[in-house]
Amino acid sequence: MNLQCNIDLASAYKSASQVARILSEDWCARELYCPACRSGSISRSPANTQAADFSCPRCEQRFQLKSLRRWGSPKIVDAGYEAMIRAIKADRAPHLLLLQYTGAWHVRNLMLIPRMFVTESVIEKRRPLSKTARRAGWIGCNILLGGIPEDGRIAMISEGRPTPEQRVRKEFERIRGLGKLPPSLRGWTVDVLSFVRRLRKAEFTLSEIYDAEPSLRIVHPNNRNIRPKIRQQLQILRDLGLVEFKGRGRYVLRASAGPN
Ligand SMILES: [Zn+2]
Repeated sequence: MNLQCNIDLASAYKSASQVARILSEDWCARELYCPACRSGSISRSPANTQAADFSCPRCEQRFQLKSLRRWGSPKIVDAGYEAMIRAIKADRAPHLLLLQYTGAWHVRNLMLIPRMFVTESVIEKRRPLSKTARRAGWIGCNILLGGIPEDGRIAMISEGRPTPEQRVRKEFERIRGLGKLPPSLRGWTVDVLSFVRRLRKAEFTLSEIYDAEPSLRIVHPNNRNIRPKIRQQLQILRDLGLVEFKGRGRYVLRASAGPN
């Protein structure tokens, strides 16, 4: 994988954000493989395809690219809030590719956030644009990366080092099953998984997970039966192979895909 962007393409553009978009899109089209199947490339979507920049010619998964100069921010700006919520509810949100480039236009970091982890809980409503703005009243959104469990943050390139493709695909395979759940249920499943991850323990108990009740009530204010809902999500996580039941209210988190 050649991590250098083609700087020659930049000469036709003036604005920094335009240059970043052109160079990073070109790089993805040349160098990037599909993390969801064996395809060695992904293709650019026809211009103006809503919320997707690339799609896989083999498995037809859709990807949206976000190029960033700075890395490690807990949130990233996305487009319209209402459109985003509609896309999540209709199960149309694309996978996200977050790409960080250096001043010399090298790709330094690339992270895949599978679409299953882009749930309503991690979408933050921004303040409406002011009356004087061209699109006065328009409401954008942020994606709260900090709320996404590590299962949903797959490193494809870390600090200039590409992760072996096989490993990336294994990581994706591990969580693919979440995509089969309806979005209304998947939000809960991912929230419970996030909470389990935050415990930072391989083994945990049901009562530890019940501690998530107050925070789950904030993101799901209309649900009064949080505990049964938590138990249901643990069963789903077990069926997906992400959690193992040890009996007597004890559970084990199945580790990520491993070094290969
Ligand atoms: Zn594919």
